[in-house]
Amino acid sequence: MKISLALTTALTFMTMNNTFAQDNSDRIPAKGFAVFEEKGHFQPYTFSRHAVGDNDIQIKILYAGICHSDLHHVFADWGAEEYPMVPGHEIAGRVIAVGKNVTKFKLGDSAGIGCMIGSCRHCDACEHDLEQYCEKGAIMTYHGIDYFNGNEHTQGGYSDTYVVAEDFAIKVPENADITKVAPLLCAGITSYSPIMQAGVKQGDKVGIAGFGGLGHMGVQYAVSLRAEVTVFDITEDKREDAIRLGAARYVNVNNSDELKELDRHFDFILSTIPARYIPVMYLKMLKLDGQLGIVGLPAFHNMPSLSVSDLVLPGARRKVFGSQIGGIKETQEMLDYSVKHNIYPEVEVIKANGEEIDKAYRNVLDGKVKFRYVIDMGTIK
Ligand code: NDP
Ligand code: ZN
Repeated sequence: MKISLALTTALTFMTMNNTFAQDNSDRIPAKGFAVFEEKGHFQPYTFSRHAVGDNDIQIKILYAGICHSDLHHVFADWGAEEYPMVPGHEIAGRVIAVGKNVTKFKLGDSAGIGCMIGSCRHCDACEHDLEQYCEKGAIMTYHGIDYFNGNEHTQGGYSDTYVVAEDFAIKVPENADITKVAPLLCAGITSYSPIMQAGVKQGDKVGIAGFGGLGHMGVQYAVSLRAEVTVFDITEDKREDAIRLGAARYVNVNNSDELKELDRHFDFILSTIPARYIPVMYLKMLKLDGQLGIVGLPAFHNMPSLSVSDLVLPGARRKVFGSQIGGIKETQEMLDYSVKHNIYPEVEVIKANGEEIDKAYRNVLDGKVKFRYVIDMGTIK
């Protein structure tokens, strides 16, 4: 009698308390698409996620964006990877389970996840809402080690579900266009944050170099701040799109005539370029005290460089800074701002199958996407 009462009490307590979260039998089945080797093709993959802890929510993933960073990972551009790897850090979906301490979300809410799902929460960076620069290392949405959950290797958003601490999930306003929200969680915040850091304001002359997923968001944010925007890219295919999105000028950098008369022209230039280029070309286009913000991160074997002479000699004091995504607070601010100003990515929605994802990757490499692929995870079989 005593034992069974103790057992019942313990079971009740454990259920209420979600202590089962640590129990392997309580892991949540997930399915998605993974590569199994460097440069591999996408294939169906079943795996599991840790159980919903007291402070966690479970999201049914509706849409997942394909970021160029995903390609860099699949191609091992930034060093060795672990396989199988399910990429995806632009995630939008619905809350389907909540832990007992959760206050920010309720069942049925829309929620998003970006590039990180945790951080130490105590270091200087975390205390200043800059979790992406956590001194212990932010836990990345995939290709990360979740040190709060048994050091499990994280898997990303090309899948049907994700479990995340509520603090690291972003509230998606109910009036948002959910098919287009996912890319805001990376492409959106990564361009929004440096534009805000640079203090872009009405009348500023702003250049956006690289007019892809990040770049076309950067154009929209800068235009919304009433800056005069110039787009730099390598093709003729996107000239009209740049003007349609509000840019004043489009420069095809392969046509040197178009680069004339731009020296000392810009207050701020944002580089989102994912391939080798010549940064000093942009540096020379900055006014005195102009700023070059760099977010594009090419493959290590293709990395552009700047020398001290580039910084000191071009004849004007200029500033260069790098930037990674944004903190959770700023990401929420960006999402609210985007929805309020009707700023969204232009997306091509594809079905959730390996061939479609492979094809999308080829098109991103060949410059054939306008402007972001989004996988409809509801079509997963
Ligand atoms: P996309 O492929 O969508 O866009 C890149 C754009 O740059 C394309 O339009 C491409 O043209 C253009 N481009 C290529 N070479 C040049 C060049 N030499 N000069 C001007 N434009 C060029 O990539 P994303 O926007 O998704 O990502 C861009 C980069 O940002 C990647 O390196 C990614 O890893 C990085 N990134 C960084 C983050 C951060 O936190 N710092 C977060 C997210 C991404 P075309 O299409 O014709 O090839
Ligand atoms: Zn990204």
